[in-house]
Amino acid sequence: MECVFCKIVRGEIPTELVFENENLVAFKDINPVAPVHILIVPTKHIESIDAMETYDQPLIGEIFQVMQKLARQYRISDSGYRIFVNTGADGGQEVPHLHFHLIGGKKLGKCW
Ligand code: AMP
Ligand code: ZN
Repeated sequence: MECVFCKIVRGEIPTELVFENENLVAFKDINPVAPVHILIVPTKHIESIDAMETYDQPLIGEIFQVMQKLARQYRISDSGYRIFVNTGADGGQEVPHLHFHLIGGKKLGKCW
């Protein structure tokens, strides 16, 4: 599979991993927009929120749990942070493998 995030999951592209278990990996965004910019990705290839099935739903709870843990680890819990998911063309999704952005470490402006 040519998907760049599947390659990261398989360890075929070097990246700065910050979390991994059998369901999820998290790594630093290659083009960070803030001092902390982490992507959380299911190890299973799911194209987007729109492609999720009912049986994928437990992943969402786990993703938020991991993001809370990473926010604490990277010391942005008190200052605050933003979590977002781009979906499809109008949503600005560039990589067609579901991923959550966790960003913080500076005061963020509104971006829409
Ligand atoms: P999106 O626009 O929501 O699809 O976000 C894709 C994100 O993936 C962008 O913020 C990119 O900087 C990031 N990205 C693309 N390739 C890599 C990579 N090899 N390692 C880390 N981040 C990447
Ligand atoms: Zn993929």
